Amino acid sequence: MEQIIIHVDMDAFFASVEVRDNPVLRGKPLIIGSLPRERGVVATCSYEARKYGVHSAMNIKEAYRLCPHGIYMHPNIDKYRAVSAQLREIWGAYCSVAETIALDEAYLDVTAQAGNLEGARKIAKVIKQRTKEELGLTCSVGVAYSKTAAKTASEEKKPDGYFEIPTAQDFVNLIIDRDVRVIYTVGERTARKLNAEGIRTVRDVRENSEMVIRLLGKQGQWITRLALGIDERKVTPGRPQDAKSISREVTFQEDVRSFELLKDVLVLLALCVERRIRRHELHGDGVTLKLTYADMKGISRSRSPAECDSAASIYREAVRLLGKVEKRPVRLIGVGVYHLSAGEKRQLVMENLLSEAVDGRGSEMKKLLDALQKRYGLDFAGHLEQIFHMDVLHKTVEYMRKRS
Ligand SMILES: [Mg+2]
Repeated sequence: MEQIIIHVDMDAFFASVEVRDNPVLRGKPLIIGSLPRERGVVATCSYEARKYGVHSAMNIKEAYRLCPHGIYMHPNIDKYRAVSAQLREIWGAYCSVAETIALDEAYLDVTAQAGNLEGARKIAKVIKQRTKEELGLTCSVGVAYSKTAAKTASEEKKPDGYFEIPTAQDFVNLIIDRDVRVIYTVGERTARKLNAEGIRTVRDVRENSEMVIRLLGKQGQWITRLALGIDERKVTPGRPQDAKSISREVTFQEDVRSFELLKDVLVLLALCVERRIRRHELHGDGVTLKLTYADMKGISRSRSPAECDSAASIYREAVRLLGKVEKRPVRLIGVGVYHLSAGEKRQLVMENLLSEAVDGRGSEMKKLLDALQKRYGLDFAGHLEQIFHMDVLHKTVEYMRKRS
């Protein structure tokens, strides 16, 4: 094997951590995310909850309809972050490169450490064992020749699973008659486009590769290559949030008609996004505004390249985009920065910008925050850091909504 890659994925991560720390929850349908009386979605749920059809990203009201006797909890992100740091320590001990793609998920390049499939098997076993013994949690591990195959392998026997896909041929044999959604990057929308042309399985993709490329362009090329088992991507060092975009969004508990309020919420979202970019020493070159209207229709508008190094510039672009959308009641608003790349040289500058925003010495953000303060009677002085906590952000936005 040219490269040997492990994909580790924790089982129902948030829920498992909560169950571990509070055994009363064991064996119960546990849903982490919004509470049923709130608006929002399921972040993670226990396998007991999944039996009722509940899954991540599902609307919380729908989850409640399916599982009214479930236990609903808000996530404790700080706690999960701490566990994630412990996980990274374990993972890092057995690979030359670890690419963390979420708090609970990573690709590990174990080519040198494992030597061969047998070696990789041993590493997978040790990682599973240590995770259980030291952290009291289970994970699923896939071993394969490529990243995509490793990810597919870890999904295969969830939870507490282990599976290997040594060659491209094995990968193809495994997925050829499955739904196209099995292919990494084929989401609901892409699947629907393909289905509309009668392309339902991986086999269909292989037999209609030209049409797939015509239909989906660059993404189509990638998908047809994956359908052949080709994925030469390397495991690259990464931390959580090393995603292609960083965004923050809030769902209002009641639909918002006032676009003035939306603009005010954008001030806070822009600060949160800036802070996350800065934390991960990234630099982006486009801003995205995302809205979900009351009728659940979602839109996203982007501007690229746009200056987006500071909260002030992110805010400006987002407001410009907001000015061009249909004015109807809004349920959710989000802002993101994309095309991220490492931008160490900007770190210092960003640091200054943020401290400027936080201390508020004459910056554009300071003026905006002052305006919020006046309009809603909020006191940000010295508490701005709090806004970066998701809970506080949501509560503040709700407070603003009620006062607007
Ligand atoms: Mg997981």
